[in-house]
Amino acid sequence: MSDLDLLLTGGLVIDGTAGPGAARHADVGVHAGRLTLLPPGSRAGAREVRDVTGLAVAPGFIDVHTHSDGVTLIGGETGRDLAGASVLQGVTVEICGNCGSSLFPALPERLAAMRAETRVSFGGDVGMYEGFTEFAAAHAAVPRANHLASLVGHGTLRSGVMGPVDRPATAAELETMCALLDRALTAGAAGLSTGLIYTPGTYAGTDEVTALAAVAARHGKPYVTHLRDEMSRVEEALEEAVEIARGSGAALHVSHHKTAGKYAWGRTERTLPRIAALRAGGMDVTCDVYPYTAGSTALAAMLPPWASEGGVTALTVRLADPGQRDLMRRAIAEGVPGWENTVGNGGWDRISVACAPRHSETEGHTIAELAAARGQDPLDVAADLLVAEQGEVTIISHSMIEDDVRRVLAAPYSMIGSDGVPKPGGRPHPRWAGTFPRVLGRYVRELGLLDLPTAVHKMTGMAAERFGLAGRGVIADGAHADLVVFDPGTVADGATFADPLLPPAGVHSVLVAGETVVRDGAGTGVRPGAVLAV
Ligand SMILES: [Zn+2]
Repeated sequence: MSDLDLLLTGGLVIDGTAGPGAARHADVGVHAGRLTLLPPGSRAGAREVRDVTGLAVAPGFIDVHTHSDGVTLIGGETGRDLAGASVLQGVTVEICGNCGSSLFPALPERLAAMRAETRVSFGGDVGMYEGFTEFAAAHAAVPRANHLASLVGHGTLRSGVMGPVDRPATAAELETMCALLDRALTAGAAGLSTGLIYTPGTYAGTDEVTALAAVAARHGKPYVTHLRDEMSRVEEALEEAVEIARGSGAALHVSHHKTAGKYAWGRTERTLPRIAALRAGGMDVTCDVYPYTAGSTALAAMLPPWASEGGVTALTVRLADPGQRDLMRRAIAEGVPGWENTVGNGGWDRISVACAPRHSETEGHTIAELAAARGQDPLDVAADLLVAEQGEVTIISHSMIEDDVRRVLAAPYSMIGSDGVPKPGGRPHPRWAGTFPRVLGRYVRELGLLDLPTAVHKMTGMAAERFGLAGRGVIADGAHADLVVFDPGTVADGATFADPLLPPAGVHSVLVAGETVVRDGAGTGVRPGAVLAV
């Protein structure tokens, strides 16, 4: 064999598989972007030899749940810093297009309107694309450090065919949606995602989603869902997902599984046994989780779905009308059938402002605090802020309890997804920069909830198998040379709610396609990443 490009010698290889022997001492060679496993102390010839004695060598982490679709397309230093936060954790593949929202597909005549909406929600003009191929081409023009795979977001698909309307799809519209989805999956998209608490996902019934999931099933790709309710009605929402999977034949993946809000705390003691029973019965169902008791979403999602019908402009018009505000206040107090009512399940004192670009003085404060300081009703504070920010305010919702998070992390079919929403400005949720080191530091080393090979498997091999990333997620001869080298004794998240992009400790180097993108914990500026066609 010709000389290696790089030899990592002396490390503890954790190979990403679930089996016994997943952790063992071995040398790892890299040649032409592929891996070779060698016996320890191999002294194989290599252009560069890196002594990693005392460190773990694992497959690069696969972040199965991101909203990073456009972060590298924002460009400039801000975009690069935001994108870099994921890579510094050891993430070599991000899976975007989650929760029903992707940057494709859409009918040509809908592209301009949708592009205007994404400019708002991504904090920059990241475009909107007719299909997966155009999306991949836009990314190819902007070098990135790690790889990106994308699901097809149902909300984008629906809006891209029908517009942001609150009614069922006609037969013809559904047929067009199925055709666009089929084309995107053929071109390389990784599956279908829904966000059934978000508009326009809320406007879709179970039948519509089942018909679309059947297209994913024909491609052998999963149905990935942010359930219609993760709070008081989470069990009913899980059953809807099961019905969609059964009706379509698609594998089911439940995104960021949680049972949030005071009425649902502890409910993972019922949802997880239900999932385990489905698996025992032969159903292919998995989930992902992030290691925090707080979530993050749009402030607009705290309002009843009808408030957003017609898009952001229509929302801000309604919010300017005191009568409409009263209707929203009443909907939150009384609930609306079929709507996950976050504030009704928790309260405005659990909702803090993460990003409000033109009103940074509100960031880090709860809506209840802002209301008390101003002597206003909380809904009016939220409404004023949404109007002033043209609908785009991100919040952090302290809605979960630790026991539920631990139970989901420990479930044998859960994988790790940051649910990171990288956008310029503000104080985003620290999960975008801290998720993977936090699992390894807090939940593996400090709490002993998971052993190291199991945790690595959840971050690598299990994820690659679920999302069809062939030749990734494992350290094996011929596998893609995406690697992370970390210190199991010191690895820890650095990001906090106050300072959410602080880098982790203990992540030494990261390789993507055989090239070193992180060395000694710092980015090298090398950008070998690509959009992966699955
Ligand atoms: Zn989601």
